[in-house]
Amino acid sequence: MSTVMMGTDVAKSMKEDLIRQTEELKSQGVEPTLCILRVGARPDDLSYERGAKKRMELVGIRCQVVELPEDISQAKLEETFREINQDPAIHGILVFRPLPGHLSEEPLKALMDPRKDVDCMSPVNMAKIFAGDETGFAPCTAEAVMTMLDAYGIDPKGKRAVVVGRSMVIGKPAAMLLLKKNATVTICHTRTEDLAATCRAAQILVAAAGKPKMITGDMVGEGAVVVDVGINVDEAGNLCGDVDFEEAKEKADSITPVPKGVGSVTTSVLAAHVLRSAGYLQRK
Ligand code: NAP
Repeated sequence: MSTVMMGTDVAKSMKEDLIRQTEELKSQGVEPTLCILRVGARPDDLSYERGAKKRMELVGIRCQVVELPEDISQAKLEETFREINQDPAIHGILVFRPLPGHLSEEPLKALMDPRKDVDCMSPVNMAKIFAGDETGFAPCTAEAVMTMLDAYGIDPKGKRAVVVGRSMVIGKPAAMLLLKKNATVTICHTRTEDLAATCRAAQILVAAAGKPKMITGDMVGEGAVVVDVGINVDEAGNLCGDVDFEEAKEKADSITPVPKGVGSVTTSVLAAHVLRSAGYLQRK
């Protein structure tokens, strides 16, 4: 019988500490504030925005949304971004990506104050992840993977960890965070030969490919820890992960579900980052 690692429980257990930190900052005259910059109204962005706003509200962080029309010009986008970036009342900035096709995020990455960069958009924070420097901000979802492992007492030290996916948002940073915790890490992608055998050898398997139920039961080793980052919709229109949960749970020692798994922890990590950035900026 495998343990189902519930992100909802982990988020609940983080709540009190986040509230305490928020109150401490408020008692020092700082109102921790997150600014979400959204261009257009993609359903994915709106759904994440609702979750983020709810989480911030729950722990007392102010959340401001700047919504720009989908056809905004690059110049206007950059002008708005500069204003947010320079606003002393804003401590954390989250830009929903990808931006519409006619816009480039590269200038925003370069402009972003690394201390406000709560979801690792700036190359400064990305470089810190690769250098194993913990003073930066990891992408919230990649960090949420580590938070889940930690909450369930799983130490990656010395373990064979396999990450399926090599995006800069999840796969690569998650691999670096596992390496920092002394796992022996393999990164898989679409060109990996014999993906099934590589996954089967994993003691910790992180699925971040964005392919519904692609990790089948035969790809999971006996006693493995399986962390499913994927958020997909199956043929029946239901949310599902990259892992076939019903098959994998027969083999795994511990496994995260979708929904109520990693995704539920992501906004708590975001809140923690906003509080840390508010602390940095207060001390500057
Ligand atoms: P992405 O940019 O599309 O990257 C997917 C990665 O998976 C790529 O590196 C790709 O390999 C690899 N891949 C795809 N199909 C594969 C296959 N059949 N075999 C092996 N590797 C394969 O996606 P992403 O932004 O990293 O997101 C991954 C998933 O996480 C998505 O389902 C997304 O919705 C979800 N997500 C979850 C959260 C959360 O809070 N839980 C947050 C954000 C995103 P190549 O590089 O070779 O193409």
